[in-house]
Amino acid sequence: MATNLYDTPSLQARDAAHHWHPFTDTKELGASSRVIVGGEGVWIEDSDGNRILDGMAGLWCTQVGHGRREIADAVHAQMSRLAYYNTFFRTTHLPALELAEKVAALAPAHMNRVFFTGSGSESNDTIIRMVRRYWDLKGKPNKKTIIARRNGYHGSTIGGTSLGGMSAMHGQGDLPIPGIFHIAQPYWFGEGGDLSPEEFGLRAARALEEAIDAAAPDSIAAFIAEPVQGAGGVIIPPDTYWPEIARICRERDILLIVDEVICGFGRLGTWFGNQYYGVEADIMPIAKGLSSGYLPIGGVVVSDKVADVVIGEGGEFYHGYTYSGHPAACAAALANLAIIEREGLVERVKSDIGPYLQARWRALGEHPLVGEARMAGLMGALELVPEKTGRAVRFNAPLGDVGALCRDFAFRNGLVMRGVRDSMIISPPLVISHAEADELVARARQTLDATYAELKRRGLVVT
Ligand code: PMP
Repeated sequence: MATNLYDTPSLQARDAAHHWHPFTDTKELGASSRVIVGGEGVWIEDSDGNRILDGMAGLWCTQVGHGRREIADAVHAQMSRLAYYNTFFRTTHLPALELAEKVAALAPAHMNRVFFTGSGSESNDTIIRMVRRYWDLKGKPNKKTIIARRNGYHGSTIGGTSLGGMSAMHGQGDLPIPGIFHIAQPYWFGEGGDLSPEEFGLRAARALEEAIDAAAPDSIAAFIAEPVQGAGGVIIPPDTYWPEIARICRERDILLIVDEVICGFGRLGTWFGNQYYGVEADIMPIAKGLSSGYLPIGGVVVSDKVADVVIGEGGEFYHGYTYSGHPAACAAALANLAIIEREGLVERVKSDIGPYLQARWRALGEHPLVGEARMAGLMGALELVPEKTGRAVRFNAPLGDVGALCRDFAFRNGLVMRGVRDSMIISPPLVISHAEADELVARARQTLDATYAELKRRGLVVT
C-alpha cells in the first residue's frame, strides 16, 4: 500500500467545506473525517499511514476483500468495449444476461428471475411495487399492506426507510408511507424477558400471525425481514423463529420477502441467508456482496410463483432504473462471483473461518464488559453491559454513548467495529485468514479493556 503522502488536515478541511456525509452529523463532524486512501485484503489504510483491520468489510459488502485486481481488470475490459447501454426497450447486453443467468443458477431452484437495480434500497422500492402488482393481477387488490419489523433495516429511500423499522429515520420525512407497519423483532438479548430463546423466537414469530389476523381480511400482501438483522445490531433469531415465520406466510397466503442484501453471497456460510435457516423466499433483494461493493449494483431475485404472474400475465411492468444492469457493474459482479466460487469462500465460512472466528469471538463473552458475544457465519455482536447480572441492565448514560466510546477506541486500536446502541458489531471480509482473525479478536479485546478502564474512571461499570 502507499506510504503516507497526504496532507490530512487540508483534505479534511476540503471535505468539511462541501461534502454532506450520509448517516452523519456533518456539522459536528467538521474537519475531522478519517480519510481512507487504500485497501488490500482485510486492511484499509488512512491518509496518516495507519493500517486498520476492516472488521465491517466496508459496509458489509467486500466479501472478497479490498484491492482485487481481477475485478478492476474485468471492469476496465467491459468499459473499453461498452461502458454503458440500457436494458429498457427490447435491448440487452452480455454482462446483464450473463449475470442474470449466474444469479439464477446460484439462487434456490424455484427462483429464476432477476430484476437489476443500483442498490439495496432501490431493490426494496422495486419490491413494494412488484408485490402490489402481483396481488392486483391475482385479483386481490386489497392485499397491499406489507408487514416489516421494528429495528429492521431495508434501505434509506422512501420505500426502504418505510419498510425499515428505525424510528429515528421515520422521524425525518414523515415516514413510513401508508400500507406498511411493523411488528416485534426476534431480539432475545434485549427483549426476551424471562423466556428461553426458543420460546421467545416462537413468540416473536407469532406476532406476525396475530398482526395478520387482526388486520382487515385479505389485506396483508407480504412480510419482509432480514435473515439476521444487520444494521439493527447483528440480531440472530432463535432457531424456532424462521420455520414458524415460513409456516405463517404459507398458511395465510402472504409473500415472504427475505432481504439478502447483507446475508447473501456467503456471509452466513450459505449462498443466501434463507438457506441458512432452511426457508423458501418468494422474493429476495440482493446488493452488497453481489459485487463486493466494487461497483454499485443490486437486484431483486424472484420466484417462479411471482414471476409467472407479474411477467407471465402482467404485460409491461412500468419500472426500471437507468442503471438497471449497468454493464460495468455487472462485469464487476461476475468477476466477484468468480472469485467467491474459485476460492470456495461460501464453504470456507461454513466449515473453516466461520467456526474458527466464532469460537474466538464467543470467548470474548467472558470479558467483564460483555453480556453476550454472538456470531453466525461471519456476522458478530458483543452486547456491552455495566454488570453481568442480567440481560436487561443498561449503562447510566444515554443509550449509544458507550457504544460510540468503544467504537472510537477500536479505531485507535486499528480495528473497524461498528457501534449499534451499546453493542459492537463485526462483519469482516470472507477472505480473512486465521492469523487476521486472531488479530481481529486481539484488537477487540484490547478495545474492550480500554473501554472498561475508561468506564471505570467514569463510574459507569460495577466493579
Ligand atoms: N437491506 C439491508 C438488509 C441492508 O443492510 C441495506 C444496507 N445496509 C439495504 C437494504 C440498503 O442497501 P443500500 O444501502 O445499497 O441501498
